[in-house]
Amino acid sequence: MKTFDLGGKVAIVTGSNTGLGAGMAVALAAAGCDIVGVSRAGASDTPARVEATGRRFADVRADLASTAPVDDIVRAAIEAFGRVDVLVNNAGIIRREDALAFTEDDWDAVMDVNLRSVFFLSQAVARQFVKQQRGGKIINVASMLSFQGGIRVASYTASKSGVLGLTRLLANEWAIHGINVNAIAPGYMATANTAALRGDVQRNDEILARIPAGRWGAPDDLAGPVVFLASPASDYVHGHTLAVDGGWLAR
Ligand code: NAP
Repeated sequence: MKTFDLGGKVAIVTGSNTGLGAGMAVALAAAGCDIVGVSRAGASDTPARVEATGRRFADVRADLASTAPVDDIVRAAIEAFGRVDVLVNNAGIIRREDALAFTEDDWDAVMDVNLRSVFFLSQAVARQFVKQQRGGKIINVASMLSFQGGIRVASYTASKSGVLGLTRLLANEWAIHGINVNAIAPGYMATANTAALRGDVQRNDEILARIPAGRWGAPDDLAGPVVFLASPASDYVHGHTLAVDGGWLAR
């Protein structure tokens, strides 16, 4: 199954210090990638987990609340490993409030990290891909709220619905350069992002009752999908948002 082999490739993963980003960084390393891990605070076991696979880890600190660091992230990747082959736009935040009370701060904070920086980091990395003339893979992290409305998460739904549309647009423009732009839409995954939901017994039971697989997802559930979308196995897959949701959307 050589088409799934990522040996010698370099992947930038944002928000790699925890949760789904950590899981995807380790999975890409296990498939052969050196990892450029982008995080605000660092301090996690991701570098050790990546290095345990035999691959290298470059630690890049950046706050994606603004687009200021995007060129530095690409520069740091080139300085560390000489090339970039994969970008995983995973960093994301959520704010919960009734739409009637939703503030501009809760709107802007989420849109800036989840959509604005996703676009401008993708642009910076795609410019590098074009320069390298070897194509590349961009994998955005969408959500069930790319397909559904949700409740009390206005900016999150707007941003993740935007991620789905942007994935299609970028695929249309960049396929000609050999760049695949796709997204993974995780279902309900057990991470810090959903700790409050899981802590609410009633919501937890309601959610579990709707998941055909009968359990919350885990970061490891994204390992196969992210390796597929990063590898030559997906070379003819463009603009697709792949739900990894235990069957939630099929219900
Ligand atoms: P998480 O555990 O809260 O991790 C979020 C990651 O994003 C962290 O690494 C965080 O870094 C990083 N991040 C947030 N703001 C940032 C900023 N301004 N600059 C740089 N990095 C920043 O959440 P998760 O569940 O793993 O979520 C990862 C992605 O999956 C997000 O895009 C989320 O929307 C999406 N998602 C999650 C679920 C789920 O059920 N968990 C479902 C669908 C989609 P810090 O640690 O420094 O804050």
